[in-house]
Amino acid sequence: MSVSAPTPAARLPADRQPSAAALAERATRYAALEWLSRPVWVFDIDGRCVHWANTLALGVWQACTLAELCGRDMGSDMSETVAQRLAQYQSDFVLRRDASFNEQWTLFPGGVPVSLNVRFSGHRLPDGRMSMLCEAEPVGAVAPESLRSVEALLHTAVMITLYAQNGEALYRNPAARAAVLSPGERLQERIANPAAFAALSRSLQQQGVATLTLAVRTPQGERWHELSARRCNDAVTGQEAVLVSEADISAIKHTEERANYQSLHDGLTGLPNRAHFTQRFARAVEDARAQSMEAALLLIDLDQFKDVNDTLGHAAGDELLVATAQRLRQARHGTEVLARWGGDEFLVLITSPRIREDLDALHERISVALAAPLAVAGTQLRVTSSIGVALYPQDGETIEILLRNADLAMYAAKERGRNTMVYYDGGLAETVRSRTELEKELRLALEREEFEVYYQPRVDVATNTIRAVEALVRWNHPRLGLVSPAQFIPACESMGLIGVLGLRVLSQAARQQVAWAAQGWDLVVSVNLSPRQFTSAGLLHDITGVLRQAGVNPARMELEITESILLGEDQHVLGVLRELSALGLTIALDDFGTGYSNLAYLQRFPIHTLKIDKTFIQDTDANRSLADLIVSLSTLMKLTAVAEGVETQEQLDWVAGRGIAQYQGYLYARPMPVQAFTEWLRCHPPSA
Ligand code: C2E
Ligand code: CA
Ligand code: CA
Repeated sequence: MSVSAPTPAARLPADRQPSAAALAERATRYAALEWLSRPVWVFDIDGRCVHWANTLALGVWQACTLAELCGRDMGSDMSETVAQRLAQYQSDFVLRRDASFNEQWTLFPGGVPVSLNVRFSGHRLPDGRMSMLCEAEPVGAVAPESLRSVEALLHTAVMITLYAQNGEALYRNPAARAAVLSPGERLQERIANPAAFAALSRSLQQQGVATLTLAVRTPQGERWHELSARRCNDAVTGQEAVLVSEADISAIKHTEERANYQSLHDGLTGLPNRAHFTQRFARAVEDARAQSMEAALLLIDLDQFKDVNDTLGHAAGDELLVATAQRLRQARHGTEVLARWGGDEFLVLITSPRIREDLDALHERISVALAAPLAVAGTQLRVTSSIGVALYPQDGETIEILLRNADLAMYAAKERGRNTMVYYDGGLAETVRSRTELEKELRLALEREEFEVYYQPRVDVATNTIRAVEALVRWNHPRLGLVSPAQFIPACESMGLIGVLGLRVLSQAARQQVAWAAQGWDLVVSVNLSPRQFTSAGLLHDITGVLRQAGVNPARMELEITESILLGEDQHVLGVLRELSALGLTIALDDFGTGYSNLAYLQRFPIHTLKIDKTFIQDTDANRSLADLIVSLSTLMKLTAVAEGVETQEQLDWVAGRGIAQYQGYLYARPMPVQAFTEWLRCHPPSA
């Protein structure tokens, strides 16, 4: 310890200066120590001042009188480490009455270093506080290196302990003393993990040295220490001992752990991320190969997630992702690896001796887990997913190839109407290649006006006569012939071409309505609107412009929208729909039952027609109970219910039995080009 006596020495405040009477009392009490041949003083640890000193000690401290020394403020330039050490000594003395310590001190009275060996022991002051009795001895001729090394040992934050063979501490530097739970603590008691202690002992035994990072019990709780130990001999007794130095690396360790965790997990959902999944994939595949098992990669993509994000906002989208991640975790059986791949895509890796069986079971569990309605941003959502599967090793051996193929299969699942799982097969790649081709050609197609509108009648169930007609766009591709909208509408949407195309279809359909009306067939013509068209601010203006130009009566036009645009209860959407409705247009809710099926919308938005999706008409009885609900609701709310996709008489009978007002489907007529439809109208005149 270096203690410099400042010149002039800092003084204690006046109210803490000892009185003459107090000094006289101390002189009497310690009279027996006055004549010792060494400098002796009592240090008041709490007060940071000398309580009493003999004459030799006054000399050491270069003080003229006891009053002057006892009035010095020893705390004024005391470093934090010295203060901590003093507190440590104080508590050691309280714990062990016979405790004493030796330190080599360098004092700087008058700026000249004086080295002393100081021995400290506990001493109770008359008021009961623990103070320190210090006895000094000159060090004599000591090499400067040794003086400096002693200083370093006392000041360093590195904890240094010399242990006897039985684990008892022979010496601790102040830092080590501050880090033990009790002074008598043995090495094995400090180390939290017995296995770590065993490793330490083994390494010391075999190599004589050991370095490891381990958890240590300290008064501050469990901390991470980097510990180096080496076998040596105690300089005093010559017995075998172990010198241990420890550095607290908890902060580094925690930062490292956090960084490591963050680098391997997705911040939003807490699931493993790409990097983590890739690591796990390598291991799982190796295991699968070793045990001749199969593996499969599932790419899970949420259906209509983009709609949630666009209409309810990103916070709601995030909420949906977090909830979905939680549900997927539940669907997992334990051995599968689940990860978030990015956006609304999740990945599962499964290994099994019976892969197909297990995949089907997993798919079932995922569907069930996702099926329950989910409350997000005050709206009930029904979440479904499209899943693509690629099998290892037949569909690919590397993660890149398996992913690409699972992705193709996932797209196929989307195209097959979503909410389904599709296995990869070689033909899918071809499909995708042609889709990319199509995208390139779409722009040209708009310029060259290759789009044509087909018409399909909507029929009254009771009278079997036409009530309305739906306009359905086709692409007359110069090479491929007629291309279905299912193939190019999504591409138009993502390329931002849907606005132009949609208005063109509306314009043609409106003109056609006028033309047919002139021939005596004043049909209601319905036109599909893409949700993406609603993101355009000018939609209302564009629609009214087109209708006016066509000279059509708006009351004879219907617009088919899908539920997704109602999701956010967006004021803009509501405003547009109200205005359209005010113009006389009617609004149909298309594909009802496939989306979020939130029946509450039917009340809040100006909707006139409900088109029940064909899956309900064509599917098993299980689904039909929801159809029943939809029908009774539409009756209640005075909406016109329309059954879509009626292909068989049996289906029509079912539709009629339910009291559904109208239907549309191949059973009656397929969509037809305008010429053919007009011919057909002559033979099937609409009901008045
Ligand atoms: P949608 O609005 O649900 O149209 C009904 C679809 O069902 C049509 O497919 C129609 O041909 C088909 N369909 C009719 N009766 C039956 C049947 O009995 N069985 C089966 N299996 N299908 C039947 P299409 O014409 O291929 O259109 C597909 C989708 O493309 C439409 O579904 C609509 O969402 C979209 N679409 C078509 N034209 C346009 C358009 O001008 N604008 C926009 N935004 N979307 C359009
Ligand atoms: Ca439609
Ligand atoms: Ca539909």
